[in-house]
Amino acid sequence: RKTTDPVLQLEKINVTFDSFCALTDLSLSIGVGELRCVIGPNGAGKTTLMDIITGKTRPDSGKLTYDQNIDLTGMSPVEISRAGIGRKFQKPTVFEALSVMENLEIAQKMDKSVWTSLRAKLNGEQRDRIDEVLQQLRLTEYRHHPSGLLSHGQKQFLEIGILLVQEPHLLLLDEPAAGLTDAETEYIAELFRALAGKHSLMVVEHDMGFVESIADYVTVLHQGQVLAEGSLRQVQANEQVINVYLGR
Ligand code: ADP
Repeated sequence: RKTTDPVLQLEKINVTFDSFCALTDLSLSIGVGELRCVIGPNGAGKTTLMDIITGKTRPDSGKLTYDQNIDLTGMSPVEISRAGIGRKFQKPTVFEALSVMENLEIAQKMDKSVWTSLRAKLNGEQRDRIDEVLQQLRLTEYRHHPSGLLSHGQKQFLEIGILLVQEPHLLLLDEPAAGLTDAETEYIAELFRALAGKHSLMVVEHDMGFVESIADYVTVLHQGQVLAEGSLRQVQANEQVINVYLGR
């Protein structure tokens, strides 16, 4: 699925650390409702790419555009998340002493004026949304459990839930299948496919089996540049991609 309207466009992004070029003239476009996988060997620039999109790292040059006319270049991470871009990091960052439900409630209210909104009761619509997310993440029966008692996989699911209650348009997910059981990986692939369309997703991933189960379209990064783009089948047949992965 490659829709015509881009939700995110990167044009000729350059990032250097000291004199090392982490990203070189990187251009990339993600369509509305698309589920894009970004793959590439270690050091290819995948994390730097995520950091650029979320404003954690500033590019030396180049332009980032969100929703066709919002210039993200130079915006702070908070402004970027308010614009509708949510990122899930690899390591869980849930409040372990709080229950699953409390984590979701705080996430849902966080961006408003925090103190006032934390004291306000959730409205019916917000409560329904949390119930829906709990179900999507298979956490309904654990909703009152302290989050610290969840399994690794369940914590990762809760992280995704925290993003979902904040209703981002674009979800950035860094190796979401890392450390999950086979069954959890299968379920998360199903969930991502269900989320695409309503949301746009960009998934950075190492696990090729997982990529195969979700990807419409794959971008292969290598040495800070786009080496190939296309369906997984297309990029796997690409001579340069084969060479990079086999280390030739
Ligand atoms: P990936 O996520 O694909 O493994 P990264 O984006 O983490 O790749 O890194 C790309 C390159 O940039 C690597 O060679 C890495 O060592 C370098 N790099 C990343 N962050 C920094 C930094 N803060 N300072 C110096 N070099 C960095």
